Amino acid sequence: MPELELRALAPDVYACLQPDRGLGFSNSGLVGRGRGLVVDTFWDLAHTRALRSEYERVLKRPPGQLLNTHHNGDHCWGNQLFPEAEILAHRSCAERFGRERPEAMQALRELVDHPDPALRALAEALAEWDFRGIELRPPTRVLDSDLELDLGGRPVHLLHVGPAHTAGDVIAHLPEDGVLFAGDILFRLCTPIGWEGTTEQWIRALDRIEALAPEVIVPGHGPLCGVEGVREQRAYLRYVREEAEHFFRAGLPVLEAARRLDLGPYAGWTEPERVVFNLERAYRELRGDPWDAPLDVTALFRGMFTLRRDPDFPRRGARAETA
Ligand SMILES: [Zn+2]
Repeated sequence: MPELELRALAPDVYACLQPDRGLGFSNSGLVGRGRGLVVDTFWDLAHTRALRSEYERVLKRPPGQLLNTHHNGDHCWGNQLFPEAEILAHRSCAERFGRERPEAMQALRELVDHPDPALRALAEALAEWDFRGIELRPPTRVLDSDLELDLGGRPVHLLHVGPAHTAGDVIAHLPEDGVLFAGDILFRLCTPIGWEGTTEQWIRALDRIEALAPEVIVPGHGPLCGVEGVREQRAYLRYVREEAEHFFRAGLPVLEAARRLDLGPYAGWTEPERVVFNLERAYRELRGDPWDAPLDVTALFRGMFTLRRDPDFPRRGARAETA
C-alpha cells in the first residue's frame, strides 16, 4: 500500500506528500474549490489511485483541472486517473511529453538479475514502481506564459519559471492562502536533480518564490517548508556552481570533482551522489553548451552508483557551512 499523507494547508487547499524514499517519491497538491485543481499526479497507477482516494475524502466532485508542473513521469504518469480534468501545462512541457516512456522504465525495472551491478542497482531503486498500464495523457490546455485561474473566487497564479529544472517548469501560487506548489523547482532535504535549464535560471526561479513570500511551500520532493527551504537550496546550487568552476578550470572530470567536493551540510540530504548531475550541468554551462544539450543519463547514473559505493563519499569538511 503506498504511504501517503494528506495535509490541509488552508481552507480547501491540501498537499498529498509521499515520504522521500528515493527516486520518484514526489508530492501533489489539491485546490478543492471552484472547478477544482490537482497539481501533479504520481509516477505509476497504484500510487496515483491512492492519491485520488485521498483527494476523494475531501472533494465534493471530481477535479475539473489538473496542472502538470513539468514533463517528468513522476509528476504526470498518473494523469489518466483524472479523466474528468482538463490538463494544463506549459508549452515546453507539452512538447516534451512522452519523451520518457513507461515501457522503457518498466524494462529497466526488470533488470534485477542483470550482470551489470549499476543496472541492477537502478532496477532495485525502481522496485516500488510498476509502470505497466500507463497510457500517457498529454496536456489539453497549453500555456505560453503565466496564467491566472479563478477557483471559487480566489486566484491561483500559474507562473512559468523554466528552464530551471526542465524547460517547462511551472509553479502554482495561491496568494490569498499563502501557499505555493513549487514542483521540482524545490527539493527539500533531498539533493536536487535537474535536466534542462541553467543554474542561473534555477536560482532566479527560487528568488521568485522567495519574493512571493508564501507561508507554506509544497516542494516537488521532500517535506513541506517555508522560504528557508528555498534559501538552503539556492545556497547549495550557488556553492556547487562556484566549486564546479574551480574543478572545471583544473580540468577535472565530473566524477572526480564529485569525489573531491566538500558537501558540508548538504552531505546529510538524501541522495548526495546526485551532485554528479549538478556538476555536469555546471560544466555544460562553463563549456558554453546550450541549456538543453542532452545529458548522458546512463553515464551519470553510473557515476552516482560509483559514488554510492565509495566509502569516502560524501566528503564533509569544514569549508561548506553556507546553508
Ligand atoms: Zn520529480
